[in-house]
Amino acid sequence: MGVESKIERAAELVRHARHMVAFTGAGHSTPSGIPDFRSPNSGIWERDNPMMVASIWAFRVKPQNFYRWIQPLAGAMLEAVPNTAHVALARLEARGPLKTVITQNIDSLHQRAGSGRVLELHGHLREATCIRCYQAVVVDDDLQQLVREGQVPRCDCGGVLKPNIILFGEQLPIRVLNEARQEARRCDLILVAGSSLTVSPAADIPYLAADSGAKAIIVNLQPTAFDQQADVTIHGDVAEILPRIVEAI
Ligand SMILES: [Zn+2]
Repeated sequence: MGVESKIERAAELVRHARHMVAFTGAGHSTPSGIPDFRSPNSGIWERDNPMMVASIWAFRVKPQNFYRWIQPLAGAMLEAVPNTAHVALARLEARGPLKTVITQNIDSLHQRAGSGRVLELHGHLREATCIRCYQAVVVDDDLQQLVREGQVPRCDCGGVLKPNIILFGEQLPIRVLNEARQEARRCDLILVAGSSLTVSPAADIPYLAADSGAKAIIVNLQPTAFDQQADVTIHGDVAEILPRIVEAI
């Protein structure tokens, strides 16, 4: 089947959906210039062992290493703008069928594109929490500037501030995960976009949806293990394909 007819088939599934959910991963934001930092093939880990900088254990011992590592990544995220795939999902929500975006991304680009209900399985960079007194603070311009300069931001109590993202070795936020699982069970269509579904337990969500009877569409550059469960599989760039699906509805 050619890409054109796959897009037509996907649009047909969207037309008939009453409760659609999107599940997005790093590939959704790479067209916005944000590297896939969880992937071993991203190039980011050629120098650093993820457990040595981006795990909760490493953070507690050597936060300066974590901040040195995240400095260019945070810079890329702050400068990034939503791409056409983010805009396509916001349009699908405005038109009705799409109820929730479940994302593995921490860059807030879905919200900036206009999506209203976003479940962030791996947290986000809008807030930080003190690892000593647990006070939460908003990441404002001053705090962003500190991180850009490679400094370790601190709470009023002197404790180190940790951005509200899920590091290696940390549990996913249970309330968000439960809501995502509930959405997976109740939806009648799931669109997986830009995720190779390799990071568990987040990656279990689309399987839960398919096992609960939902139709499934996957758009990803590379083949994934989920392809054989999906009703429509498109190997391509989300920034190109998603707007074409929305156009075809
Ligand atoms: Zn504190």
